[in-house]
Amino acid sequence: MINSNLNPEIERRPLNEIRDFQEHKLHEHLEHLAATSRFYRKLFEKHHIDPGKIRKISDLVNIPITTKNDLQERNNDFICVSRSEIIDYITTSGTAGDPVTFAMTDKDLDRLAYNEAISFTCADGSPNDIYQLMTTIDRRFMAGMAYFLGVRMMGAGIVRVGNGIPELQWDTIRRINPTTIIAVPSFILKVIEYAESHGIDYRKSSITKAVCIGEPLRNEDFTLNTLGRRILEKWPLKLYSTYASTEMGTSFTECGQGLGGHHHPELIITEFLDDNDQPVNEGEPGEVTITTLGIEGMPLLRFKTGDVCYHYSEPCKCGRSTIRLGPVLGRKNQMIKFKGTTLYPPALYDILDNIDFIKNYVVEVFTNDIGTDEILIHAGSSKPIEDREKDIKDHFRAKLRVAPMITFDTIENIHKIIMPESSRKPVKFIDNRGKQDL
Ligand SMILES: [Zn+2]
Repeated sequence: MINSNLNPEIERRPLNEIRDFQEHKLHEHLEHLAATSRFYRKLFEKHHIDPGKIRKISDLVNIPITTKNDLQERNNDFICVSRSEIIDYITTSGTAGDPVTFAMTDKDLDRLAYNEAISFTCADGSPNDIYQLMTTIDRRFMAGMAYFLGVRMMGAGIVRVGNGIPELQWDTIRRINPTTIIAVPSFILKVIEYAESHGIDYRKSSITKAVCIGEPLRNEDFTLNTLGRRILEKWPLKLYSTYASTEMGTSFTECGQGLGGHHHPELIITEFLDDNDQPVNEGEPGEVTITTLGIEGMPLLRFKTGDVCYHYSEPCKCGRSTIRLGPVLGRKNQMIKFKGTTLYPPALYDILDNIDFIKNYVVEVFTNDIGTDEILIHAGSSKPIEDREKDIKDHFRAKLRVAPMITFDTIENIHKIIMPESSRKPVKFIDNRGKQDL
């Protein structure tokens, strides 16, 4: 049985009622910021903004946006509570190395639990489910802890295996019989690979669903991307994509229809903005810009996330009428204007992932001598594949209408670029635009 408190009625109301509901919450949020946030008090003063006069969501355009740079440079001015009220400290990477600290109060942790509980419920979860957590719960991250708290609030079961170690993942599946995994999709492929090489009949396991985090599963038209298809070809799970970030403290999770992540009106106001911080129309890609609701420790107002996506306002077949966010097309600062087409690196990755003789790759973008963006793919393969260049370019033309330049190298050499010693994360995109002497 599904807990009706975790299926909020407001998500099924017409959009104008949702807007009225959010405007009431926005008013409370602005009062809270004006009373407690050093950063926003200064911002209101500097721009002569009377927060009491911001009544409507459409009035928000009168307030300057907040950037990741602001969070980094003025971190402490964003914290609205005293040290004694903070329970959990979380960090998230900043733009230039130094991380940003997020402070969570007791109530913020309850809010986070509620967010995940309604998100998992949206993704066809119930108290009868047992979740296997395949992501880390510590290391100052928010996500793993949020999932644990959310599953607990739902009254479902959870087993915290953490990331990596396919052997331990399979041992746990065999012992506990969980129904749902929470994992990064590319890790699910590793889990399948391990099962295949160790004679585990994974298709007959207890797992029927996967909540997929961190990487997109779908193309712009909601069909599965290469990663999503690779998983399903092997293991017929029901896949649910979820999009979230520490700054938002809120998730956009798909329902069973798989048509974008549902917005939770109690928790966040979402705008989609262009380069001039003006709202885009439905059908145009916009940068996700959020105003958190109900957060005590580190509330945000018009924070521009850097993620670009489409949004949809048609009511969903699941009965929810909240807007839905399409797959993240890419990071705003990674947008490439190539031969008159706007591209983001994930669209290039998806094509490269689909070419079996390319084992690894790096996408480089630079400014050519006429001052426009040029793309150079560094592709790794175990055998000489120069004669396949035309095939590869045809793949690109078929999907994107344009073809980048390609250079070939050994898998080892490409690996050295992907995994430099100075970086914790793999580097698949190198942006040399505006730099001289390439
Ligand atoms: Zn839905």
